[in-house]
Amino acid sequence: MAMEIIKAEFMGFCYGVKRAIELVERLIAGQEKDVYTYGPIIHNPQQVEKFRRLGVEARELLPDRGTVVVRSHGAGPDFYRQAAERGIRVVDGTCPDVKRVQSIAAEAAAAGNRLVVIGDRNHPEVQAVVEWAGGQAEVIGGRAQADSWRPQTDDNVVIVAQTTFEQVDYCDIIGVLRQKRSLCRGWVEHQTICSSSQKRQQAARRLALTVDAMVVVGGRNSANTVHLAAICREACPRVYHVEVAHDLDCAWLAGVKRCGLTAGASTPQWLVDEVYDKLLQCEGEVK
Ligand code: SF4
Repeated sequence: MAMEIIKAEFMGFCYGVKRAIELVERLIAGQEKDVYTYGPIIHNPQQVEKFRRLGVEARELLPDRGTVVVRSHGAGPDFYRQAAERGIRVVDGTCPDVKRVQSIAAEAAAAGNRLVVIGDRNHPEVQAVVEWAGGQAEVIGGRAQADSWRPQTDDNVVIVAQTTFEQVDYCDIIGVLRQKRSLCRGWVEHQTICSSSQKRQQAARRLALTVDAMVVVGGRNSANTVHLAAICREACPRVYHVEVAHDLDCAWLAGVKRCGLTAGASTPQWLVDEVYDKLLQCEGEVK
C-alpha cells in the first residue's frame, strides 16, 4: 500500500513573517538599491541566501546608507534613533503583535512599573522589548527564575510574554509568579503569546499522534522549528527535521504507512513544496 502523506492543518509562515518577507520582495520588485535587512529577515538560511542573491544583504549593524528592513521580531529604540541620524530609510517589518508588546513595555517603564517579560532572554524579540523598557525589565525564562523572583510591596507589576513562547512553559512560570501577587501593590498580566505559533504547535501535535513518522521542515537555527520538532517527538517516535528536500533520505521512511508534514513559522512555502515533492517521490520507493 502506498504511503499516505498528510499535511498539518496549520504550518509555515505566520502572518507577521509573511508581511516582513513581502516588504523585502516589494523592494526587490521595485529595483531599489542598497537594501539591507537588520539581521537575517527570518531564521531560514535558504530564504536569506535567496534574498542575498537578489541583492538584499543581512547586516547586524546599520549600514551607512540605503534602506533597512526591520524583521518581524522588531528592533529597539536605539536602532530607529541611529537610522534617523544617518538618514537611512527604515521599512518596518515588525509584526503588529510584537509592536503591541513593545508599546506595553515602553508604557510600563514610563509609568515606573516593574516589567516582567516571560521569554528567552537571548531571543531578539525579547531583547528589543527590554530595550523599549529602557533596559528596566526582568526576563524570566524558566521555573527556577520564577521561584527566585522577589516582589516588593510597592511594586506595580506588569507582565508580558515573548509572542512565540510555549504556552505550557508560560503557564508553569505564571503559576509560580501569581503566588506572589498578594505581596505587590498592582498586578497586570497581558496575554501576548501569539495564536499563530499555538495553532501550528497544536496542529503538529494532533497530526504527530496519528502518523508513523513526521517530517518537520525549517532552519536548524529556527527556535520555533526546533521546538515544533520537539513537540512532534513527544507524540511520534520517528521525527525528521530537514532544512531542504535533499536532506530527506527516503530510506528513513521504510515501513511508514502514514507520514505527517509540518513546517516552522519561518519556513517559506517553496521549501515546504520541495519537501512535499520529495515525499511523493519517496512514496514510490519505500516499502
Ligand atoms: S509568531 Fe505571531 S507575533 Fe510572532 S511574528 Fe508571527 S504572527 Fe507575529
